[in-house]
Amino acid sequence: MSKELDKLQPAGIWKYFQEICKIPRPSKKEEKIAAYLVAFGENHGLETIMDDIGNIVIRKPASPGMEDRKTVVLQSHMDMVCEKNSDTLHDFDTDPIQPYIEGEWVKARGTTLGADDGIGIAAQLALLAAKDVAHGPIECLFTMDEETGLTGAFGLKPDLLKGNILLNLDSEDEGEIFIGCAGGKDTLISMNYSRTPVGSGQVGYIVKVSGLKGGHSGDDINKGLGNANKILNRLLWEATHRFDLRLSKFDGGNLRNAIAREAEAIITLPKRFAAEFEAYAKEYHQIVRNEFKVTEPALNVQFKSHDLPDYLFDAATQERLLNALYACPHGVIAMSADIPNFVETSTNLASVKTHENRIEITTSQRSSVESAKDNVGNMVVAVFNLAGGKSVHSDGYPGWTPNPKSEILDISVKSYHDLFNSAPKVLAIHAGLECGLIGEKYPQMDMISYGPTIKGAHSPDERLLINTVQKFWDLTLDILKNIPKEQNA
Ligand SMILES: [Zn+2]
Repeated sequence: MSKELDKLQPAGIWKYFQEICKIPRPSKKEEKIAAYLVAFGENHGLETIMDDIGNIVIRKPASPGMEDRKTVVLQSHMDMVCEKNSDTLHDFDTDPIQPYIEGEWVKARGTTLGADDGIGIAAQLALLAAKDVAHGPIECLFTMDEETGLTGAFGLKPDLLKGNILLNLDSEDEGEIFIGCAGGKDTLISMNYSRTPVGSGQVGYIVKVSGLKGGHSGDDINKGLGNANKILNRLLWEATHRFDLRLSKFDGGNLRNAIAREAEAIITLPKRFAAEFEAYAKEYHQIVRNEFKVTEPALNVQFKSHDLPDYLFDAATQERLLNALYACPHGVIAMSADIPNFVETSTNLASVKTHENRIEITTSQRSSVESAKDNVGNMVVAVFNLAGGKSVHSDGYPGWTPNPKSEILDISVKSYHDLFNSAPKVLAIHAGLECGLIGEKYPQMDMISYGPTIKGAHSPDERLLINTVQKFWDLTLDILKNIPKEQNA
């Protein structure tokens, strides 16, 4: 391994970061890192526990004079996303990650770096090993499989941790402190149709919406992006009423957590309306291009002649489907009243897929307020109830409701200010974090999430901004120094 990282400061955290880079730790294959952590705890004479699901807790008593402070949980996740460039030979199950310095950054040769969340693990280990750091009792929690299922956080038992304050070390922008995240669930709808033959005197078309940006249904939901399902449906709805349009197939969107980028439909209509329909479709293309001219400059609505399909949706189902897709909410439902510019609740009309005798619609809801998430899920159900659809919800995962009056937030904002003479940004994200699940098991837990700056996470471009690691470490130490006394101590 390259020696160049040896010179970086703070030495402790970089030493452990390099050690972790040698240990394979793909999601769901955490045995090697888990064994390393258990050995680390035992070698340091610290209480070390592995729970049934594979999460690890290492406890360290307070430093002298700090015994009466509240216990703090520091948390990271053991696993990393394993992505590599196509020309890189690397076996994530056996080969070490090879970090190197490039300018102001640490990167890995051809692979993800695993600073997400290896730098969090390294900070915990440096702290557990340190003899010169002032802190009250600490518990280091290492969860498993954050990246592909939040498995460790889901399986966390409500009696494993003793502390009531948690520092989640899995955020990626130095200078930002997170105090909330969204929970999510999916609502899936199925509508049956019967097949109806195509009448005489009809022409066929395929209509396609494309050129949209797509984007993440959490992070990007407030960006005013177009939803291909919605844009296509609007044309079909209008043309059904004006030109006797009949629908044979509607396919749009793909992933449940992505905003639909493309959608297409196969349709028929009476030959006598063909010219009018084509003129209307061109006009509609201009209308939506104008509406989305800022956010979706490449939006395209195109139609082409198509062979007549073998069958159509029955007319009643078509009418109910197009009405329901029109009425189904999509996008931001509510903004947070506590946190500026934070989306509290949203829903994504993710996909519409035609199967042999049924149409399946996938939607997904997010909110940092559990009851609001259920409410918007029910809105979707209600619309499709009117249309005779059958809906089911997935179990989903809970959000983390921001608490702007949090004690640990006040402490960390003050620490940040004292150390760096500037105010950190206090934010919440409209996507999932483990804190949502931890808060569900430990409702009294006072939590923040922060970390050094990582760019390109989950890709071979992942890189860690070197000078933010020192700030991350200094902030962590200062927070620990300022943890208040246990009230009844
Ligand atoms: Zn992470």
